[in-house]
Amino acid sequence: IQTVEDLIFYYPFRYEDFSNISSIADLLPETIVTVKGKIEMIDNRRGWKARKILTEGLIADKTGSIKVIWFNQPFLTKNLAPGDEIYLSGKVKYDRYTLQLINPIYEKIKRGGNVIHTARIVPLYSLTERLTQKQIRWLIKVALDRCSNLINDWLPKDIKERLNLYSLPQALEQIHFPDSETDLEIAIKRLKFDELFLFLLQSQFIKKESKLVDAPVVKFKEQETKAFVDQLPFILTDDQKKAAWQILQDLEKPNPMNRLLEGEVGSGKTVVSAIAGYNTALNGYQTVLMAPTEILAKQHFEGLKKLFINNKQNFKIALLTRSEQSIDTQKSTKAKVLKEINSKGINLIVGTHSLIQQAVSFDKLALVIIDEQHRFGVEQRKVLHQKGQASNFSPHFLSMTATPIPRSLALTLYGDLDLSVIRQLPKERKKIITKVIQPKQRKECYEFIKQQISEGRQAFVICPLIDPSDKLGVKSVTEEYKKLKEQIFPDLNIAMLHGKIKSAEKQKIMTDFLAKTSDILVATSVVEVGVDVPNASVMLIEGAQRFGLAQLYQFRGRVGRSKYQSHCFLVTDNANQKTKARLDALVNARDAFELAELDLELRGPGEIFGQSQSGWPEFRIASLFDQPIINMAQTEAKEIINQDPQLKNFPILKGKIDELNKEVHLE
Ligand code: ADP
Ligand code: MG
Repeated sequence: IQTVEDLIFYYPFRYEDFSNISSIADLLPETIVTVKGKIEMIDNRRGWKARKILTEGLIADKTGSIKVIWFNQPFLTKNLAPGDEIYLSGKVKYDRYTLQLINPIYEKIKRGGNVIHTARIVPLYSLTERLTQKQIRWLIKVALDRCSNLINDWLPKDIKERLNLYSLPQALEQIHFPDSETDLEIAIKRLKFDELFLFLLQSQFIKKESKLVDAPVVKFKEQETKAFVDQLPFILTDDQKKAAWQILQDLEKPNPMNRLLEGEVGSGKTVVSAIAGYNTALNGYQTVLMAPTEILAKQHFEGLKKLFINNKQNFKIALLTRSEQSIDTQKSTKAKVLKEINSKGINLIVGTHSLIQQAVSFDKLALVIIDEQHRFGVEQRKVLHQKGQASNFSPHFLSMTATPIPRSLALTLYGDLDLSVIRQLPKERKKIITKVIQPKQRKECYEFIKQQISEGRQAFVICPLIDPSDKLGVKSVTEEYKKLKEQIFPDLNIAMLHGKIKSAEKQKIMTDFLAKTSDILVATSVVEVGVDVPNASVMLIEGAQRFGLAQLYQFRGRVGRSKYQSHCFLVTDNANQKTKARLDALVNARDAFELAELDLELRGPGEIFGQSQSGWPEFRIASLFDQPIINMAQTEAKEIINQDPQLKNFPILKGKIDELNKEVHLE
C-alpha cells in the first residue's frame, strides 16, 4: 500500500457484525454484542498466573452493569478512565456466577463522531506484522473522509442507473464501513462489476485495435513446411495439424494474429509453435518465444534447437535469459546475442518475458509466442514493436497455455483472442494411474517408489510449503527432504527444489535431475509449469487438498511424458466430502477440459479461483465464477465500444483504461 488510492482500494477480507446493541440487563451468554455505557471503574492487577496483567473494569448503562476483563493490555488504563462513555463489542461469557465481557473491542463515544470499531458491521483486513485492525481501519476512515470527493467515478451514469449500481465513492464507503448487509452486497456488486467491466472493455479495445493495425504478412510455404513436418521424429496428431493450420492462416493476414493455443501438458504445443516460427523464418522474419521462467526458457530452447538445427535452411536460434545466453550450440554473451538479434543474425529467440520486454530491439520481428501468459496488454505489445516501424504496426501474437479453460469462460474472458485447442494427446502416451491415498498408506507408496527407481525411473514428491509450519502439520519441502534422505531412502540421491533457491542453482538442480544425478526431487509448486523430465514416472503429492484442481492437474502432467506407465499418488488426511469430490474428479476426468468443467461445478459461484493460477486475470474482488456480473459487464462493454469506439464521450473511463494499459506485468 503506497498511496492513498491503494489504501482506499484495500478491501476487507471479512466483517464482524457488532451492530446488535444490547442493554446490559438483556445480555445472554455466548452472544456477540455491543454494549453502550459509562466506565465505573478500571484498573490493572497482576493475574494469579505470574506476570499476566489483567485489566478489570466495570461498565454500566441504565439497566445494569457488567464486569469487563482484558488480558495483557495494561496500557488500557491510560486510554480509558472512569466516567468515559464507550462502546464495547465482543462475546459475552458466563464466568462462575456472573456474565462478563472478555477482551472486547472498545471505542470511545465522541460527540458527532462515527464509530468504526464497534456498534456496527466492522471490517477486518489482512494485516502484516505490527499493524493492527484499529490502525488500518482508522487510516482507511481518514482516507475515505478526506479523499472520497477526489475519486473519479469512471463508470458512465446511465450504466449505473440501468444496473442500479452505487457511485464509486459510495461503494468504497460501504465496502469498508457498510451500513447494513444489503448495502454491503450492493457495494460488492458495483466493485466486482468495475473490475470485470474494465477488464472486458480492455479486451474489446485490443480486439478493435488489432483490426486497425498492420502486421507483417507471413506466407505459408507449403512445401518447406511439409518437409519440416516430415522430418519430425513423430507424426502430428489431428489436433496439432488443425491448430498449426489455423495459426498459419492467421499469419498470412495483414492484421496481427491474436490467438490462444490451449492444450494440456504434453499435448505438443511446442512443435505447433515451431511450425509457425519456421514459416516466419522462411519469410525472412524473426520469432520470439517468451517463457515465464529461466528453466522453461532453457527447455524450450533445447527442444526447438533440436527441431531447427538439422534443417537445410541454416536458421539460427538464440537463448536469452539473465543467467545464460547461447546461439545455437555455442555459449554466448548477452551483448552478442542482442547485437545479432538486431542485425538479422538470429531467426528465433527464446527467453524470459521480462528480459525480452526490457532489453531487446529486433530487426524484423513478426511473431511473438508467449508461454503461460494468456493475455498481453496494449503497452506490452507496444514495447515489442520494432524500432523504426510505424506505430500502427504490430507483430502477430500467439499465447500458449496448459490451463484448460472451459469454453464458455474462455469466450467471455478472452473475447479478444481466437482459440485453438489441442484436446488429443499423442497416441503412445499411457494414461497416468492416479490414486487418492491416506497417510497410513504412505509406506506402500515409498516401497513402490523404491521399486520404480530400481527399474531406472525417477520420482517427484510435492509439498505445499517450503519450511515447516506449526499450523495444521502441513508437509514442508525441507522437512520431507530431510526425512526421505535420512530415514526412508538413505541409499538414493535426493534433491530439493523451491522458490527460495537462487535461479542459477534451481537450474542446476533441474538439469541434474534431468541427467539422473538425483532419483527423487522434493519440490514445491515451482515444478508446476512445463518442466520436462520424461524419465520421471511417479509423483507423490503431499497435502493434496491444499492445491487447486488445475494446479494438481499441472503437477501430474510432470509425469507420464514417456512410454513408461506413470503413477500419481494424492496424499490427504482430510476426510471432508468436498475434498473427496475434488480429488475424485482428478482421478476420473477424461481430459483437462472435462476436469475444468467439473472444477467449475464443484466450486460453484462466488468462490475465488485458485490462489495463484498463472495467467488468470488478477482481480481484487471479482471472480471467474461471478457469471451474472460477467454477463452484465460483457454486454455493457460491447455496447459502449460499439457506440463510441474511442470513448470520446467518456474521458474518465478512457483515462482509466489507458492507466490499466500502462501497467506492464513483468515477472
Ligand atoms: P506441451 O504442450 O506441454 O508444451 P510439448 O510440446 O513439450 O508439450 O510436448 C511434449 C512431448 O511430446 C515432447 O517431448 C514432444 O517432442 C512430444 N510430442 C509432441 N507432439 C507429438 C506427437 N504428435 N507424437 C508424439 N510425441 C509428440
Ligand atoms: Mg510447454
